[in-house]
Amino acid sequence: MRRIVFCDFDGTITAQETFVAVLKEFAPELAADLIPQMYALKITLREGVRRILESIPSSRLSEIIEFTRNQPIREGFPELLDFLDSQDIPFVVVSGGLREMVEAVMGDLVQRVKAIHAIDIDTSNTNFQVISPYEGETELVDKVKVMEMYPADVKIAIGDSVTDLNMALSTPLVFARDRLAQYLSDRNKDYIAWNDFFDVLHALKSKI
Ligand SMILES: [Mg+2]
Repeated sequence: MRRIVFCDFDGTITAQETFVAVLKEFAPELAADLIPQMYALKITLREGVRRILESIPSSRLSEIIEFTRNQPIREGFPELLDFLDSQDIPFVVVSGGLREMVEAVMGDLVQRVKAIHAIDIDTSNTNFQVISPYEGETELVDKVKVMEMYPADVKIAIGDSVTDLNMALSTPLVFARDRLAQYLSDRNKDYIAWNDFFDVLHALKSKI
């Protein structure tokens, strides 16, 4: 049986929601206005995140990377990757945040994952320009679109928030924490509650 894991980055691999913190730090006014509207599902992530990002001067990318670099990774992450390796189960990072942030936090662990799908930033103009090959109707990174590129018998999703909602709804086996757990409860969608990657590891071990 071919299995594959799709994992969010921000607030999932990182212990804290780093991307939201970056948006608040580098575009405080627009972030204060638009982030609550995105959580309330009043404006789309696609619109909100793009507007905030494209208000940030290109010259600040290196500060964003430095701001992100020391963010702690949630416990059990390398152990989960070891287990998945031993079972030949690919692990794909699907982030609605910036690729540079994902790579800065993951460091050498980047080598351990099959792929990273995230937002790329073009800094050749005054402000950031968003490059997102998997832009969807409502999301800047349409995680379902990304998942469709990887055929498998069993797809497994791991996430924590609103950017993972559609991915979770279209996946049979979901690990959800924080806001995502609430959104899924509201929609009567089954999920496994988790707090760190040891929880995911133990649950997958017992299922496989
Ligand atoms: Mg997240």
